[in-house]
Amino acid sequence: MRNTKIVATLGPSSSEEAVLRRMVEAGVDIVRLNFSHGSADDHRARVDLLRTITRDSGRTVGIMADLQGPKIRIGKFENGKIELAAGDQFILDVACKLGDKTRVGLDYPELIDDIDVGTVLLLDDGRIVLDIVELQNQAVVTTVRVGGTLSNNKGINRQGGGLTAPALTSKDRLDIRTAAEIGVDFVAVSFPKSGEDMRQARKLLTRAGSNALLIAKIERAEAINALPDIIEASDAVMVARGDLAVEVGDAAVPALQKKIIRMARARNKLAITATQMMESMINSPVPTRAEVSDVANAVLDGTDAVMLSGETAAGKYPVETVESMARICLEAEKSAEVTLDNDFLDRVFTRIDQSIAMAAIWTAHHLKVKAIAAMTQSGSTALWMSRLNSGVPIYALTPEVSSRYRMSLYRDVFPLLMKQNHTDRDRLLWEAEQLLIEQGVVKPGDLMVLTIGEPIGSPGGTNTLKIVRVGDCQKPEF
Ligand code: PGA
Ligand code: MN
Repeated sequence: MRNTKIVATLGPSSSEEAVLRRMVEAGVDIVRLNFSHGSADDHRARVDLLRTITRDSGRTVGIMADLQGPKIRIGKFENGKIELAAGDQFILDVACKLGDKTRVGLDYPELIDDIDVGTVLLLDDGRIVLDIVELQNQAVVTTVRVGGTLSNNKGINRQGGGLTAPALTSKDRLDIRTAAEIGVDFVAVSFPKSGEDMRQARKLLTRAGSNALLIAKIERAEAINALPDIIEASDAVMVARGDLAVEVGDAAVPALQKKIIRMARARNKLAITATQMMESMINSPVPTRAEVSDVANAVLDGTDAVMLSGETAAGKYPVETVESMARICLEAEKSAEVTLDNDFLDRVFTRIDQSIAMAAIWTAHHLKVKAIAAMTQSGSTALWMSRLNSGVPIYALTPEVSSRYRMSLYRDVFPLLMKQNHTDRDRLLWEAEQLLIEQGVVKPGDLMVLTIGEPIGSPGGTNTLKIVRVGDCQKPEF
């Protein structure tokens, strides 16, 4: 059983039913719809395909909509791309329709208000570096510091951050509605710089009728200073290493990754580690040693999920990439330290449901039970348990379809749908036990720890911890 979850971005390489089916079989837990590419209909078609595939297999695969956000981009070139050499003059020109070796269009005129002579601009994730030498009314004159090939619509970042663009564009507002219609389980907000950006996104999402979990992509320099507020306002954070590296410098990212994951977990929030994890597998059927280490280290950092972008969206080996990632996670988990007793030292909890979750995880670990069964409506009991490293798998049994899919992101948690929502306690416990036996999780004679709320059926009502020897209880009359 793998505890760390895998997010795979869908794209041209993963749009065929046979390929997506094999990816799901290989271990995809969440698919990511990248709203920077493709139309609403493309996303809908991909979701329909996924639902067809999972209907038979019974696998729980969540769906994430990733909003484009205010990514500033250059325009297109007459010939699709140009070559820039160090020392060349190059102009970003709002008025330019089709670019050439000397100039290119710019889709965000306000950029000019945010920069000065001396500002460094990074294009194409930092591959091209430009020094600004002159600002004109509608154009930015630069000298190329680091050249290379530059192709259509590449992104622009300012070194050190500080661009004022709002996190939610008008396109994002429309896409939030599309995401709500599709019924996604997660929505990722790109380039938030404050908790306020996340609260705004939440408001729009709620208004659109969605209760999807909200993910803040940490990819701006300003977001680092605002981390506590951003995390507080979100359900999850993504270490978005692509843009983050451009803004804060690539060498600062590994330490930030550890810090962001630690902060999220300590605040009962989720964390995803993203970008270039298996990059070379876009063109190669095997990962590099460095990529194997990167994925394993993210697992050891405590990430809930590792994410694939171009590897599964546009790569040659989407299935092999998921297989490799799953294999690396499994092996890394074996060496992860169980820090439960230490983790308890500085935990403060005052809620009844949270106290039961904590008691359950501690008991399960020390009694060395086979599994924890958490009967949960909202999933919060399972979330609290999963924030501690106990080494015990948590089976979250819920009658709520939306909780089932949202828990697809929780590390150490295996969501299961309870088909019938009884209020008869004995019958519910009996059926939960039968479901876990059926799934091969436990067998008669095994010990398991179970949590439940009594009376049955009220969310946030977990108040009971029970230690069960599987097979000991009699089948109730019903
Ligand atoms: P993106 O976000 O792939 O949407 O740019 C992730 C990142 O920046 O790392
Ligand atoms: Mn990004």
